[in-house]
Amino acid sequence: MATTQTAQRKVIIIGGGFAGLECARKLANDQRFQVTLLDRTNHHLFQPLLYQVATASLAGPDIARSIRQILENARNVTVLMDEVTSISPSEKTITATSGQTYGFDYLVLAAGAKTGYFGNDQWEQYSLGLKSLADAQAIRRKILSNLERAEITDDPAERERLMTIAIVGGGPTGVELAGACADLIHRSLKSNFRRIDTGKLRVILIENSPKILEHYDSGQSDYAKKRLQSLGVEVRNNVRVINVLPGRLLFNDETHLEAEAIVWAAGIAANPLTKDLGVETDRAGRITPNLDLSIPGNPDIFVAGDLTNMRDREEKFVPGVAPAAVQMGDHIAALLKEELRLEKTRFASRKHELRPLFKYTDKGMMAIIGKNHAVLKAGKLKLNGFLAWAAWLLIHILFLIGFRNKLSVLLGWAFAYLRNNPDARIIVNPPQTFPTQQSVR
Ligand SMILES: Cc1cc2nc3c(=O)[nH]c(=O)nc-3n(C[C@H](O)[C@H](O)[C@H](O)COP(=O)(O)OP(=O)(O)OC[C@H]3O[C@@H](n4cnc5c(N)ncnc54)[C@H](O)[C@@H]3O)c2cc1C
Repeated sequence: MATTQTAQRKVIIIGGGFAGLECARKLANDQRFQVTLLDRTNHHLFQPLLYQVATASLAGPDIARSIRQILENARNVTVLMDEVTSISPSEKTITATSGQTYGFDYLVLAAGAKTGYFGNDQWEQYSLGLKSLADAQAIRRKILSNLERAEITDDPAERERLMTIAIVGGGPTGVELAGACADLIHRSLKSNFRRIDTGKLRVILIENSPKILEHYDSGQSDYAKKRLQSLGVEVRNNVRVINVLPGRLLFNDETHLEAEAIVWAAGIAANPLTKDLGVETDRAGRITPNLDLSIPGNPDIFVAGDLTNMRDREEKFVPGVAPAAVQMGDHIAALLKEELRLEKTRFASRKHELRPLFKYTDKGMMAIIGKNHAVLKAGKLKLNGFLAWAAWLLIHILFLIGFRNKLSVLLGWAFAYLRNNPDARIIVNPPQTFPTQQSVR
C-alpha cells in the first residue's frame, strides 16, 4: 500500500476522461494534494469524434492524447496506467490489476460508462459498440473488410449481407454514425470498387421509439430523419430488437434483418465499479450523488461524469455529455480546495455542511447528419442545416488545434473531409468472420 510521507491529502482519481482529467488539472501544482490518476489506458479520448475514426475520416491517435503528456507539468500528479478492479470504501483503498493497493483520503470515481445491452450481455459478442478507440477501429475494420469480402464473393445473398450495416439506437451516436457511414460509402468509396455497386450498400438505423434524436425538438428530429433518408439511410422507427445473432437481428414485429456489421448504439451502463460503493444505483448502474457530488453516507468519496444520474441544485437534469463531466470534475477540485481552507478557520467543524452544491451550465448540444448538415440546440436557439454544421466544424477544428497542437493533422483532416476522400482506410488485422448462422442456431 502507498504510504503517506507528508501531510498532503491523498486524492485518487479513477479515470482520465473528461471528468477525471479536469479534476486533476484543477488540483495540479496545489501542494496540499498528492494526486494519483489511474486509467486503464494511457490516453485521454475525445469520444465525440469517435465515429469519424469508425468511418475512416480520422486516425485513432488524432483524437487521443497521452494523459501523462497532458499532465507533465502537474508536479503533484502521478499518472498510472492501471485498471482498478475494486474499491473498499471502509478501508479507503482501491486495488488494481497490477496487484497494487492504493490508499486515499479522497476518492473521485470518474470511470465513465460502457455500452449497455439492457441485461442481454450475450449480444455484445455479435455486435460492435462505440465507446473506445478500440471499438471505433473495430467498426472501421469490419466495414472496410466486409466491402473487400463483398468484392470477392459470387454469392448474391452473402454479398447483400456483407453490404448491410445495421445501427441499433437512434440517439446522437447512432444518427451521426449512420450519416457518416452513408457519406463514406456512397460518396467517398463509390469509385473504388469494380465488382460491387457501393450504391447498393444499405445503412439501416433502428430505433425503438417513434422518433430519432429524442432529446431534440420534434422539428429537428424530423429534419434529421429526412436528411438521413436523403443520404440513403433506411430509418426504422417503432421496432425493438429482441435478439442479436451472428449477422442477424430479430425484431419484436417478427421480422429479421441480415447484416454482417451490427453496431449497438442503444444504451449505456455505468462502470461496474459503482457497485463497490454500496449505494443505490439505477437500472444502468448509475449513482445519484448528493448535490456536492459526494456519495450518500460518505463525504470523502465523489462520483462524476457518465456514471451519475442526477439533477443539479436548481433541479436541472444533468445529461451524460462531455461539458457536464468537465463541470463535475471542476466542481470536485474546487470543493476539495475549499474544504482544506475551511479546516483552518472557525468553520472547521461545519466544513461538510458548507460545501458548494453542483450547478450545471447547459452549453447546448449538436448532432451532425452527414456532411454539410447538423442540428444544434442551445437554450432557445435551434438551428438545422448548413449553419449548424458550420458551427460544428468550427468547434471541432478549434478543439483539434488545441488538442493535437498539430496543424498538419488538422489540415489533412479538413482537406480530406471537404474532398470526400478520407484517408484512414488501411485495414490492420482483418476481423475473424463470425461463425455462420447455421452453426449457432
Ligand atoms: C460515440 C460518442 C459520441 C459522443 N458525442 C458527444 C458529443 O458530441 N458531445 C458531448 O458533449 N458528449 C458526447 N459524448 C459523451 C461524452 O463523451 C461523455 O459524456 C464523456 O466522455 C463522459 O466523461 P467521463 O469522464 O464521465 O467518462 P469517459 O470520458 O468515458 O472517461 C472514463 C475513463 O475511465 C477509464 N476507466 C474506465 N474503467 C476504468 C478502470 N476500471 N480503471 C481505470 N480506468 C478506468 C477509461 O479508460 C476512460 O479513460 C459522446 C460519447 C460517445 C461514446
